[in-house]
Amino acid sequence: MTVSVLIVDDQAPFRLAARAVVEATSGFDVVGEVETGEASLDAARELQPDLVLMDVNLPGISGLEATQRILAAGDGTAPVVIVLSTYEAAEYQPRAEEVGASGYITKSEFSPARLEEVWAAATRGTAA
Ligand SMILES: [Mg+2]
Repeated sequence: MTVSVLIVDDQAPFRLAARAVVEATSGFDVVGEVETGEASLDAARELQPDLVLMDVNLPGISGLEATQRILAAGDGTAPVVIVLSTYEAAEYQPRAEEVGASGYITKSEFSPARLEEVWAAATRGTAA
């Protein structure tokens, strides 16, 4: 099974970097990229990704708000959301968990190994 990934980030260099990490991770494929939280709501509905990599700081609604809305739209097909931020985990991790995100990765630590690790933790116990 290939894990389809939607990347949400307002900064093009980070989208490129995130795409490179995802493509370098065996079994993961990028299916879309968007720049705003609003756009992520439409993209999540249209593309039905398995995983959303969500930036926190976005123009318009925040990544946390977008996460909450994507998960609330749940008709059983809601993706796993992992929040990515430049901020240290201590700052946003609790809030990310509060809105239902399955994981949190600091951007400077984002790598295939971290992605696999957080994905495994997020989907543990489910028939993936
Ligand atoms: Mg940002």
